Amino acid sequence: ERLLKIVEQEAAYNKNSIDGTSVLRIARLLWAGTLSVKALILFKLFDYDNNNRVSLSEMKTFYQQYLKEFKFPHNENRTNEIIDIFLTGFHFDDDDDQQINFDQFYTVLQSNDELLHTLYLISIPDQHLLISNLQNKISHHCCTREYIKNNLNRIICLFIYILVNLSLIIYVVVYRLMMAKLNGWEITARIGGELINFNFSFSFLLMLKQTITLIRSNSFLRHYVPVDNHIDLHKIVGTVIAVSSIVHSLALMINYTVKPSEYTWIQQMFTTIPQYGWINGTAPITGIVLFILLFIMVLCAMQFVRQKTGYYQLFYYTHLLYVPLFILLIIHSRDFWKWFIGPIVLFSVEKLYSFKRCFGKYGLTYLLSVTIEDENVLSLIIYRPHNFSFNIGDYIFINFPLIASYEWHPFTISSGPEEKNFLRLHIQKQKNWTKKLHDYFTNYSKQRDSYEKLVDTVLLPVMPEYTRIQSPKIIEFNDQSGNKQINLRIDGPYSSCTRYIFDCEHCVLIGGGIGITPYVSVLESLMYQFRSQRMICSNCSHMNYTNEFCCRRTLKKVDFIWINRDVKNFGWFIKLLSDFEVEQETYLNANPEHERYLDIHLYFTSLASNETNRMGNVAYDLVANVYSQISHKDMYTNLKTKTRIGRPNWKLLFSKLKVEQKNRTTSVFFCGNKTMGQTINQQCQEQNFLFHSEPFDK
Ligand SMILES: Cc1cc2nc3c(=O)[nH]c(=O)nc-3n(C[C@H](O)[C@H](O)[C@H](O)COP(=O)(O)OP(=O)(O)OC[C@H]3O[C@@H](n4cnc5c(N)ncnc54)[C@H](O)[C@@H]3O)c2cc1C
Repeated sequence: ERLLKIVEQEAAYNKNSIDGTSVLRIARLLWAGTLSVKALILFKLFDYDNNNRVSLSEMKTFYQQYLKEFKFPHNENRTNEIIDIFLTGFHFDDDDDQQINFDQFYTVLQSNDELLHTLYLISIPDQHLLISNLQNKISHHCCTREYIKNNLNRIICLFIYILVNLSLIIYVVVYRLMMAKLNGWEITARIGGELINFNFSFSFLLMLKQTITLIRSNSFLRHYVPVDNHIDLHKIVGTVIAVSSIVHSLALMINYTVKPSEYTWIQQMFTTIPQYGWINGTAPITGIVLFILLFIMVLCAMQFVRQKTGYYQLFYYTHLLYVPLFILLIIHSRDFWKWFIGPIVLFSVEKLYSFKRCFGKYGLTYLLSVTIEDENVLSLIIYRPHNFSFNIGDYIFINFPLIASYEWHPFTISSGPEEKNFLRLHIQKQKNWTKKLHDYFTNYSKQRDSYEKLVDTVLLPVMPEYTRIQSPKIIEFNDQSGNKQINLRIDGPYSSCTRYIFDCEHCVLIGGGIGITPYVSVLESLMYQFRSQRMICSNCSHMNYTNEFCCRRTLKKVDFIWINRDVKNFGWFIKLLSDFEVEQETYLNANPEHERYLDIHLYFTSLASNETNRMGNVAYDLVANVYSQISHKDMYTNLKTKTRIGRPNWKLLFSKLKVEQKNRTTSVFFCGNKTMGQTINQQCQEQNFLFHSEPFDK
């Protein structure tokens, strides 16, 4: 209504229709208007009584209404506080009537580039961007030269894997035809059998987590062996096993039908009379049992079972059927053990090692404290067993007997490896085990609360308290608190691709929601290293840093991107982010010639993005920019970094990073949901960035 009023189309608003010429006129104005014209439109938006002056109360009323409709996630007090601070930026007090004219308004906007930039939102959506996005989607294919270069090791491994399978097929066809003169169905069955032998053994190699950790720690080895995709390859191998066993069984069934034999079809299929197979002619019977077990295993490993709430344990336990499968395969097939002996020895050594570690000196530990961060997330501080060593981004499996005796769940260690006293995990509530854990400690804190033994501390000195629905509650388990010690078992650590970060030149760390935990451990570690380089002059107490930190290391720049649906989630790690900002500022003050080491980018997605040129966001953008200009902090988090609304425009962001870091290789690390991962991967291919991802839902 206000916009139409400004462009003198109030009649159109009343009639609820507008003619084409007027639409074009408005579009031209919005699209091609100069900055001062756009500023005038914005000014007129606030000038409700159309007297060419904007009063304090007009602007205040506008914003109270606007932020309410904008679903601004603060309560009324905080909203008013923000509006009041924002309004001081326009110097209404200089005038007795508390009014400003357009010149005064425009002067304020011109005082800062960011404020002027706000005016660009007064436009019509950029169709070029939409069209080029669409074109990208259509023209995107994975066979570009950059893609092949960046994924060469994966492509070579896949090629070798296919080659081995093809060689086996050729070997069976040639060898069996020449030596045994078998018919087509028999040869098909043998091909299936041979592929099962190889793929079953190979699938074990792909799950050797300790060996994978060793490969990851060695930059030469990991360059050639694409360990990050081991689970993807394991799934492919599993599919080949399933298809081969169907082919093997069907071919045998048909062969028993078509080939003349002294035995009946039933005898050949279900009895040991014909003495088929290796041990005691049990191949038909073991074959049927193998087929049934494999069917159950494959069915329960499908995504719709594995990722369905509450069904993960079904997947887990049915996958343990590999033990009877392995025994039956030895009995069933003459050649199987030859393929299997190597992988099973390695696998057994690893299992024994993990078992010893988990049920030996590192395994049993206890809780030091639990923080109920909010209604969805807990953080556990666990005593770090002596000699327990881990690396950034590693994860452990934990088992809480008081929640479920036989369930183990993986969680990333969000504390840095330099923290010797404890391990910290951040656990988001899902629907099953994690929910029970959350409920348990929430109830626990309530009971303790009534005994007044709860240590209830607001952890976050920097976060505006209104942003949080409730302050985090800390339950401590020590002699002073009187709370009984709670034991738990841990199994690990296991590695992730996050380990490579310190070997990269420029890293973009992207976390969606709780997926930020691996990168928090990176920040903690960096923070520790930063601090350990501090030097304080004994004469004047001036603080500086040794040159080692930025000059000697490979990692020169980190862009830390955290995307949250809810703004209050930033509270989980706000203290760390704020400390890092302060530390970096101190460092840059002491070394002005050095470049920034860390840039933080925070996005929250429950509000629509600015990046898509939404004109409705202009008033919001103005308040956010003026607020941070006056108070030197973000209105959501109180950090120096401005929180952006909506999803990142990856194309724009990555192009900017590419220009900034033009001489460096950029590696993107992502942990979050799959769809976002695909979009980011695609953008990485376009910008020729290396992409690594570590999804929680594998
Ligand atoms: C390497 C890795 C690191 C992780 N780090 C974190 C972290 O730091 N913080 C965090 O909040 N979450 C993390 N997760 C996810 C976390 O393990 C699951 O959310 C949790 O196990 C769900 O338990 P639930 O019974 O409540 O889930 P459900 O509600 O039953 O299921 C929710 C989802 O969790 C998956 N899931 C359930 N049990 C397991 C399990 N034992 N192992 C793997 N996936 C499972 C299911 O497939 C389903 O997709 C991580 C997962 C992996 C694989």
